[in-house]
Order: sequence, then C-alpha cells, then structure tokens
Amino acid sequence: MKRTISDQLFEKAKTLFPGGVNSPVRAFKAVGGHPLFIERGEGAHIYDADGNGFIDFCCSYGPLILGHAPAEVVSAVNETVKKGTTFGAPTKLENELAEMIISNHSYIEKIRFVNSGTEAVMSGVRLARGYTGRDKIIKFEGCYHGHVDSLMVNAGSGLATLGTSSSAGVPEAYVKETIVLPLHDEDAVKKAIEEYKDDIACIIIEPIPANNGLLLQDKKFLQFLRDICTSEGIMLFFDEVISGFRVGFEGAAGLYGIAPDIISFGKIIGGGLPVGAYGASNEIMSCVAPDGPVYQAGTLSGNPVAMAAGKAQIKACLSDGFYENLERKAAGFAGEINAFAEAKGYAFKIFRVGSIFWVAFTEKEAIVRSSDIDQNSMANFKTLHGALLERGVYIGPSGFEVGFISRAHSSDDLKKAVAAFKESLEMIFG
Ligand code: PMP
Repeated sequence: MKRTISDQLFEKAKTLFPGGVNSPVRAFKAVGGHPLFIERGEGAHIYDADGNGFIDFCCSYGPLILGHAPAEVVSAVNETVKKGTTFGAPTKLENELAEMIISNHSYIEKIRFVNSGTEAVMSGVRLARGYTGRDKIIKFEGCYHGHVDSLMVNAGSGLATLGTSSSAGVPEAYVKETIVLPLHDEDAVKKAIEEYKDDIACIIIEPIPANNGLLLQDKKFLQFLRDICTSEGIMLFFDEVISGFRVGFEGAAGLYGIAPDIISFGKIIGGGLPVGAYGASNEIMSCVAPDGPVYQAGTLSGNPVAMAAGKAQIKACLSDGFYENLERKAAGFAGEINAFAEAKGYAFKIFRVGSIFWVAFTEKEAIVRSSDIDQNSMANFKTLHGALLERGVYIGPSGFEVGFISRAHSSDDLKKAVAAFKESLEMIFG
C-alpha cells in the first residue's frame, strides 16, 4: 500500500494542528504509523490521497448509516445550499426534520437541535440539573459522553465514588458533582443513591456503551436504572449519540422498551453534517429557554443545510425494512467471522448489536465493563488493523472503537471483508 501523499500531508498537518489532527483518535496513535488522508467516499468505499481504496467500516464513527455520499443526501444538500447557508432565523426545514423524528419516536415530545453530540449531552445535563434543582450526576466508567467538562471524569479510587478530572484543564471543582460507577452493578448504584439521595439530578448512560468496546448491558440493568430513577425523582438520561437511529429508529430506548427522561442524539441525525439534538417530554423541555430558565443557544443550530441532509437520511431510515436489512447483513458478517474464529480456536470474537460491532481479542462470552477488557489484547488489535488495511479494509484506528455497517455495504463488500478478516486472523494466530 502506497502512503507517500498521506505521509506528506500528515507532516504538513503536524505544523498546523496539535498532533496533526482535529480530533485525537484520527492520529492513529493507538495503532502506530500515520493516518490516511481521505480524498473521497462512495457507498461503502473510501479512497485516500494515494489512490488506495478501502471498504469502510468506520463510517465516520457512526453518522454514515447510508454510506458515503448517498444520492438523496447529496441532492438535498446541493438544492438547499444554493438558497443560502445560514440565517440565524427559523426555517421550515427545522420543523420538517423535527416532525419526522418526533412523530416516529415514542420517547420524546419536543427536541432542540444543536451542533454536535458533545453539545447535546452538555445541554441535556444542564436541563436535568435545571429541572430537578439538583447538582450531582451519576455516570458510568467506560461510557463516553463527549468532551463535556463535568463528564471528563475518571472513577475515584477504592470506595470513593466521586470522580477525578480526566483531562488537564478541567478543574476538580467541575467534576466534584460527578459520581462515577461501574457499569452493570446494581449495588453500586443503590449505594451511591443512598449516600447522595436528594442531590442527584440524573443518571446518564450510553444504554449501548460503544466507546470502550461494545459493553452490552442487559435489559434488566437498564430497567433497574429506570425504576430507581422513578422512585427517587432522578432523571434517566440515555446518551444515544451512537445508538439513536442506529439500532432501530427509536434507538436503544425502543430496542429495550425503556423510556428515559432525556435523550441526546448526534451522528445519524445530521446525515453526515454537524448536528446533535436533545429531546424529552413537553413538560421537561418547557424548562429550556426561551420557555424556561435553562439557557441554551446556538448561532448555527438548526442550520438549513444540515437539516436538509438530516431529513434525507432520516427519511431513508424510515423506509420499510431498513433496519431489518442492516440487521441481516451485520448478523451474516459477524456470524461468519465468529464461526471461523471458533472453529479455529482463536481467542477472538465480534460482539454486535444491530449494525454496530466490536472486534475483540478475547475468550470471554460477554464483556460488560471496561475493566474487563484485556489491555494486552490491544497489541493484537494493532496487528489486525494493519493487516486489514493492507487487504483493503478500513476499521477505526483503536481497539476501543466500534465499527458500523451501512445500507451501502453490498454482499460483495461484506464477502471481501470477511475474507480479509479470516486471512488477517490466520496471520496473527499463525
Ligand atoms: N456521546 C456519545 C455516546 C458519543 O459516542 C459521542 C462521540 N463519539 C459523543 C457523545 C460526542 O459527540 P461529538 O463527537 O459529536 O461531540
């Protein structure tokens, strides 16, 4: 694989951006080497500056559920951009996208568009605090919620549940209201609630934790959170930035049939343009400015071009059999690789829910907490990543990232990718 131009671009980028990138994971630090500079995408394929082509399973970390440059999104963007890019005034497109979502989603009655997943979570946490008049929040180790100050938190040591700041520049005072607990541990939640009872505004969780591998929780744990939140007047906050519109139109809430009080969205909702959103019941959303006292605003929020892209993508998600088709393709892909690894006796597994999957070097049947991930397995991931690139398959450049299958992945793409996985695993396990 030729990488001359990507390497030159990266050298230049390092003089312009910290680490040569505008978001850390892109620097390929976890897998070594240099990032590939992507020139264009088409369907399930991406092409880098050196002309190498790859079947893409990163899909920009989730937004591209229709693949790259889907005709309906491209055409919606082209038509809309001609009429202007932003007005700082309402447009009909915002109504239309909101209506498409709300009328097909049982768990929210009102929505507010923002510009990223981080912003959606930050605003949702502020809403939970504003609505309840309480300051503390519970989050779980292994869940990522964007680079929100109060959520950049490591678990406390030993018995301490209060977290410590996980990033320079985040004062300890900003995280002292954040309680960090292990996933899938009802007792830990009960204890924290007993201790801080009337101070807790919300429990925030990725109901399908997909940022430290795929730490699938069982419905029982999520239902336990729903019940304890209801009985203690705590808001249950599902961060569905990845799972929303991905594991089904109604995300994890719909998949498990559990109603959260607040939901954050990102990624898919914007059709690949920068959009996030948060939603809740009419009553809860009435706390948001200008109706209520919780301030939140955005110059580019509800941007018309992004709304048009989101509308086109969400419309496709609502088409008949859309999620069933993704499920079938993803099940076939993961199933075939898993059967191969099992037959060969390799300590390797693909964990999956819907079209989200995670490749893990493990013999465990399930991994539900980040502390259960074997850090030593990341050396194997690094080798796998390189071997797949050499075979024309692009997955996210970290063993903690999940992969995605889109509408655009054809049976031929998946067949080729399965063959690349098998060859790479044979090479690793020799
Ligand atoms: N929440 C979750 C669950 C996420 O996966 C992410 C991003 N991966 C975010 C929030 C932050 O979104 P963004 O990167 O758009 O700010």
